[in-house]
Amino acid sequence: MTDSAEFDLIRRRHHYRCSICRQPEKVTGTLLPVKGKAAEVDAYCTFPVCPDHHAKYMQGFFTGIEMKKIGISAEEYRNLLSEIKEEQDAGKGLSTAEKGSLTKDETIKKIQKAQKMKMPKVHSDYKKEI
Ligand SMILES: [Zn+2]
Repeated sequence: MTDSAEFDLIRRRHHYRCSICRQPEKVTGTLLPVKGKAAEVDAYCTFPVCPDHHAKYMQGFFTGIEMKKIGISAEEYRNLLSEIKEEQDAGKGLSTAEKGSLTKDETIKKIQKAQKMKMPKVHSDYKKEI
């Protein structure tokens, strides 16, 4: 559950916008994590992207400009993709876990939407839901 809490912070830091197209989560649907590199620390870290860009990333279709937006070179992108493939091949039940978190995210989104009307800070409640 640390992962979801951490990713929630990351999404918040990115103002709930896709790192690639800058569309807000409200428009694109729940943002998903991809690995990139933060320029300041030169280390791999997680970026939130919209479902469309997540799919594009996973399929290896990111363009040079898109790679640049998450701070990785073509070579690093290839390495990241092969890591992802290895993880999937290892059959850690990732796809089920991912599906689970997706449905959870959808629920959370609905809750957030409802709560945003009343108050801006929903994150303590949000964590309880997980
Ligand atoms: Zn996007």
